[in-house]
This record gives sequence, structure tokens and C-alpha cells, in this order.
Amino acid sequence: MEDCIFCKIIHQEIPSETIYEDEQVKVFLDIHPSTNGDALLIPKKHIVTIDEVEEELMLHMLKVIKEMKKRMEEQLDIKGLTIIQNNGCGQEVKHFHIHLTPRYPDDGMDHVYNKENLILIQEIKEKLTSKK
Ligand code: AMP
Ligand code: ZN
Repeated sequence: MEDCIFCKIIHQEIPSETIYEDEQVKVFLDIHPSTNGDALLIPKKHIVTIDEVEEELMLHMLKVIKEMKKRMEEQLDIKGLTIIQNNGCGQEVKHFHIHLTPRYPDDGMDHVYNKENLILIQEIKEKLTSKK
């Protein structure tokens, strides 16, 4: 088995506050929450980035996200849900996961980027639409 903290959570070798589970995925509360209800959705299969996610699994995860959002709205009175999924840079745990972060008025959630290296958006568009 992979030496992976999220695989250990799946196999209950380390504890988690699990709020949803089925054959394919697990959802548990983030140990360092940004807001109340901050949760992580993970596939039970050890994969690392979005490149390895099969379409069928993604569709299933979408359904689970919608169900979690509904539950959070009903039980936590959330006012929004921010969905973040890091690949590579910014990805601390190398087991694919989707952050489901409930939003509340004045929760202070803010992403601060270093904008010094920004180039013109027109140049970016050229790069991303040019055919090889
Ligand atoms: P990322 O930076 O996208 O890889 O996010 C990893 C997330 O996993 C962080 O928000 C951590 O707080 C969370 N995390 C790490 N270990 C645990 C754990 N044992 N139980 C719950 N959440 C965890
Ligand atoms: Zn893993």
C-alpha cells in the first residue's frame, strides 16, 4: 500500500471525521478548517492529480459534491461553497482531493497572489489557443 496519509484514512489506520462514504469516495472534515464544515472529498483509489481521474469517477464526485452542498445548506446554513482542487504546486497531500469550503458572510477567505510575474492576458490567450 502507498505510504499516503489519505489512504491511511480510507483504511481507518488514522481517524477522520467522515461525513459521507460509498464504494468509490469518502468525504471527511479538514483537520485545519478554513470555515465551519470545511471538507475534503477523496477517491478511494490512490491517484495523485486530475490527469488520473476517469470521467465516470468525476461524474460521481460531482453528484457527491451537490449532495454535500445541500446538506451543508440545510444543516450549517452556509451561504456559498468554494471548490478548490490543487495539482502539483499548492498540493500538499499527494492523493487527489477536492476541497469543499463552505462560505459565510465576512469569513475573510482571500487568496493572495504575487502578481509581479503577470504578462498580458492577450499573450496568454495566444499561447492557449495556438494550434501545434
Ligand atoms: P492541499 O494543500 O490541497 O494538499 O490540502 C491538504 C489538506 O489536507 C489541508 O487542508 C490539510 O489541512 C488537510 N489534512 C491533512 N492531513 C489531514 C488529516 N489527517 N485529516 C484531515 N485533513 C487533513
Ligand atoms: Zn493515497
